[in-house]
Amino acid sequence: MNRDEFLAIRLKHTLKKLERPKSSAPGLVVVSKYSPVEDVVLLHGAGHRHFGENRIDSLIQKQEALEQQEVEGVIWHFIGNIQSNKINRLLKTKGLSYIHSIDSLKLLEQLFDRAGAFVGNQLGLFLQLNTSEEQEKAGFAGYDELAAAVNFFESQGEKNKKPIFYLAGLMTMGKIRTENFELDARNSFKKLMQFKKKLERDFDLSPLKLSMGMSRDFPIALEEGTDWVRIGNAIFSEDHK
Ligand SMILES: *Cc1c(COP(=O)(O)O)cnc(C)c1O
Repeated sequence: MNRDEFLAIRLKHTLKKLERPKSSAPGLVVVSKYSPVEDVVLLHGAGHRHFGENRIDSLIQKQEALEQQEVEGVIWHFIGNIQSNKINRLLKTKGLSYIHSIDSLKLLEQLFDRAGAFVGNQLGLFLQLNTSEEQEKAGFAGYDELAAAVNFFESQGEKNKKPIFYLAGLMTMGKIRTENFELDARNSFKKLMQFKKKLERDFDLSPLKLSMGMSRDFPIALEEGTDWVRIGNAIFSEDHK
């Protein structure tokens, strides 16, 4: 089987698995961080548009390669750590539409300070919550920290009627080292849903979106009501079952 056939089949199977009996399927961010840009081009050819990268340099390289090949319309989701000295280059990347990895109020403030560098129309920001309390994982630590970030959005909204950067929702990852990843993932996802509902109530917000679920735990995220899943290996890796 050719690579393009393989990827088209994997994409189709993954989309099928995302279907839910009672509610609409979540959006699929295809995480291309392990893959060469050729794979992005092939999936773009199969009709997919939403892709995720976790390193700023790789994102920029891939987008530049797409432009050279005149592949248009890729919608980028940034999902990784953001070093402050690379914010301007990130915001200047064509197609950047979402950042799922806003992990501190400081980063949020820095982004708004550099908003002039942004080349797109609107940028949806997800606040990342460290639901599993693992030291090495990034993210806001709890509800109060999230609430402080939402307060910051509200204060920006007062200054600017139609903000370019808007609060899209909340993101989390299941526990990395665990005896029972299914149980831990479910607990993380339930916690994110609770915090979403509490924020919507406390701040009278229109519904926030949830970004949760990766290759190994997306079926659980589906059950827990996610709006976006971020999937890499289950699409790209020939070893993935
Ligand atoms: C790599 C990555 C993913 C995708 O992981 P897979 O296990 O390959 O599906 C999703 N989210 C984030 C934040 C990642 O870094």
